[in-house]
Amino acid sequence: MLSAILKRTPVFFIPTALLVAAWFLAPQIATLPLPRQELVTVAPYLAAAGGGLLAIHFHRGRPLFVLLMLAVSYRVFRSLPEQIEPAFNSAYQALVLLIPPNMALVALMRERGIFSLAGRVRLAFMVVQAFFFIWLFHYHFVDLLPYLARTLVSLPFSKCMLVPQPAMLLGALWFIVIAVLAIRRQAAIDSGILGALTAFFVAANGLTSHTVHTAFFVAGTVVVALSVMRDSHNLAFRDDLTGIPSRRALNEALHGLGRRYVVAMLDVDHFKKFNDSYGHAVGDQVLRFVAAKIAAVGGGGKAYRYGGEEFTILFPGRSAADVLPHLESVRETIANYRLMLRSGDRPADKRQGKGQRGSRGEGASVGVTISIGVAENADGVTAQDVIKAADKALYKAKNRGRNQISR
Ligand code: GH3
Ligand code: MG
Ligand code: MG
Repeated sequence: MLSAILKRTPVFFIPTALLVAAWFLAPQIATLPLPRQELVTVAPYLAAAGGGLLAIHFHRGRPLFVLLMLAVSYRVFRSLPEQIEPAFNSAYQALVLLIPPNMALVALMRERGIFSLAGRVRLAFMVVQAFFFIWLFHYHFVDLLPYLARTLVSLPFSKCMLVPQPAMLLGALWFIVIAVLAIRRQAAIDSGILGALTAFFVAANGLTSHTVHTAFFVAGTVVVALSVMRDSHNLAFRDDLTGIPSRRALNEALHGLGRRYVVAMLDVDHFKKFNDSYGHAVGDQVLRFVAAKIAAVGGGGKAYRYGGEEFTILFPGRSAADVLPHLESVRETIANYRLMLRSGDRPADKRQGKGQRGSRGEGASVGVTISIGVAENADGVTAQDVIKAADKALYKAKNRGRNQISR
């Protein structure tokens, strides 16, 4: 059930929904009876602990660091005396200045686990940094605080912003860094970090309202925890290189097919030779393009990476005649595509490279073709049988000269 939801929602949907929910639920906390309110104040820690266990279970160091940052921030915010001028509080200033770049750093880092050497070094770095800045702010930054607390431009809403403008400005820059990463990679953890930073800033601005910062720390923490789940789900069901669903997702989908469906098996032609000529990296690049075009197939088709340079498309509820034009269009799009090689991607074989190089003497342009085999479901056969039949048809397309469709 949860996995079905995760599979279908775009990567930003759940974080946004949770943050919006926090916004509407925050005032409700104040209406709870007092003992309940007390209970709610520990909710961010509970959520962080739960998320932390998930992260540990899935060996995800990056979200664990973010959860730690949220828990520490919440602890510090709660410990600040009420009626303070946050901009002139060194702990508050330290947090609003340091949390955003640290979250961006985590977003930029590659996952290296938690208890691995790299994981421990990173954790140590964050702890040492925290203590260093506590010490620095406590003894030396008092003189700097008036500068950090300055209002650079007077905006109509600056009265309701507690975070001082210099920190807000820097925070916005770090936010953009993480947002660009999250959009480019469409990765669950990155969007979780973005959600966590948003929650942190809303909480920091709503410091004087304990309901706002409690609600947003809970939301930020849950966003990160869910991103860990989504990430582990993607790990199993999404192919890492191409970003399209994996063989495992295909096997799942085969169970849910109705009586009528079509299977297409697609295979890149002479790809071994292509790799030998242009290198594996260029091969990967082409494979990503090919996968994207196959995934964009019309006619209700859903694409999977079967393995290597082989793909499968399932067309539920269709006949072979229905889907042929859509497959033909995919085949043609791929055949017409030319990849411009950069100078670093020269063919390994110089003589071959010369023949291929563009007339303007820049890089060579290269392309690939694909062959496709199509098979329909029939009474009394299993999905595996239909796949086998499509594979046989693919073989036929290869034998007939490739770059074509066969049934
Ligand atoms: P055919 O036209 O008969 O399909 O020829 P082929 O060379 O494509 O056939 P074969 O299946 O023998 O070779 C597949 C090659 O695809 C082998 C491997 O070099 C390449 N390949 C498989 N997976 C990847 C990948 O993830 N990245 C890259 N760059 N190459 C891959
Ligand atoms: Mg093959
Ligand atoms: Mg091939």
